[in-house]
Amino acid sequence: MTYTPPLREELRGLEPYGAPQLDVPVQLNVNENPYGPSPACVADIAEAVASAAGSLNRYPDREFTELRTALAAYLSRDTEPTRGFAITPDQVWAANGSNEVMLQLLQAFGGPGRTAVSFAPTYSMYPEYARDSMTAWVAGRRETDFGLDLDHARELVEKERPSVVLLPSPNNPTGTALPPEAVTALCEAVGDDGVVVVDEAYGEFRRAGTPSALELLPRHRNLVVSRTMSKAFALAGARLGYLAAAPEICDAIRVVRLPYHLSAVTQAVALAALRHAPELLGRVDELRVERDATVAWLRERGHQVADSDANFVLFGTFPDRHAVWQGLLDQGVLIREVGPDGWLRVSIGTAGEMAAFRQALTAVLAQEASQS
Ligand SMILES: *Cc1c(COP(=O)(O)O)cnc(C)c1O
Repeated sequence: MTYTPPLREELRGLEPYGAPQLDVPVQLNVNENPYGPSPACVADIAEAVASAAGSLNRYPDREFTELRTALAAYLSRDTEPTRGFAITPDQVWAANGSNEVMLQLLQAFGGPGRTAVSFAPTYSMYPEYARDSMTAWVAGRRETDFGLDLDHARELVEKERPSVVLLPSPNNPTGTALPPEAVTALCEAVGDDGVVVVDEAYGEFRRAGTPSALELLPRHRNLVVSRTMSKAFALAGARLGYLAAAPEICDAIRVVRLPYHLSAVTQAVALAALRHAPELLGRVDELRVERDATVAWLRERGHQVADSDANFVLFGTFPDRHAVWQGLLDQGVLIREVGPDGWLRVSIGTAGEMAAFRQALTAVLAQEASQS
């Protein structure tokens, strides 16, 4: 007889979330940075890990003080030159990927009888954090250009009184950035009964003139700005996400975090990588240029394309998007079947990978046209 373990009722029959991990030549499906670290950076990371290895019999620094200090200094580059204030280490929290950071936020600020709100289409993990923390989930809608309808957003917040609002900027899968006025309006609408989480996983890719929500931290004590080393920072494999917020918010998360959740190895790797920040981030400008060229190319071919401040592009619409996705995969190009019906998302890779994508898409659509 097959064994059915006593899974929580509402989890029965559910599939675990995740994009297919397929070994194909051109992988443009999970918004990774296509460029790996340089040999100098690899050597520095290896040395840092070797040095941490000598004391792995001990638990790591539970407060990861050195790492919080380095992350605060890194974030301050976005606030000091433009706004004249620094992010302090007691405003910083980190965990194993910003996915864990956000789950901790839901564990601390969500829970039974409480509600989390976001605006669809948006990141498909958000409802899962809500479910796992037994928080009610309410998704409002976005405009047809995927921007926020502020009146609708405010109304929804006033009706639902959420304790957590999740606002990705740039949004995934659409690439849409939020203007600072929208963040301010929602922080004010939510008030002290909730926190507003601006998920800036793709923040470093935003177009010139789009400020980071970090600049708004002094104005709103209920604002949380979440970042990750997984995307622009080219360190998805290390699993390091972090946030900046009021020290009181960081203290609230300390209550729910597991003891020693950040391993000594993770801390050493992240610190070494931060010392190489200029190099690891060095390709961001190149990727933004490649993104804008991809948007232009798709539009020239008559596709609908969402404006993107991220390292991916949402385009469509296809009567049978799965057929297009599969056709690309058959040519060795893996993209993502995600977003509203008919749309597909392609991550921005190297110039060579994008050429392969353009060639494969042209071939797949020509083949479809000849068959119909
Ligand atoms: C990729 C992504 C993250 C980051 O995930 P990590 O756990 O830090 O790797 C967070 N939010 C959104 C919207 C993302 O697309």
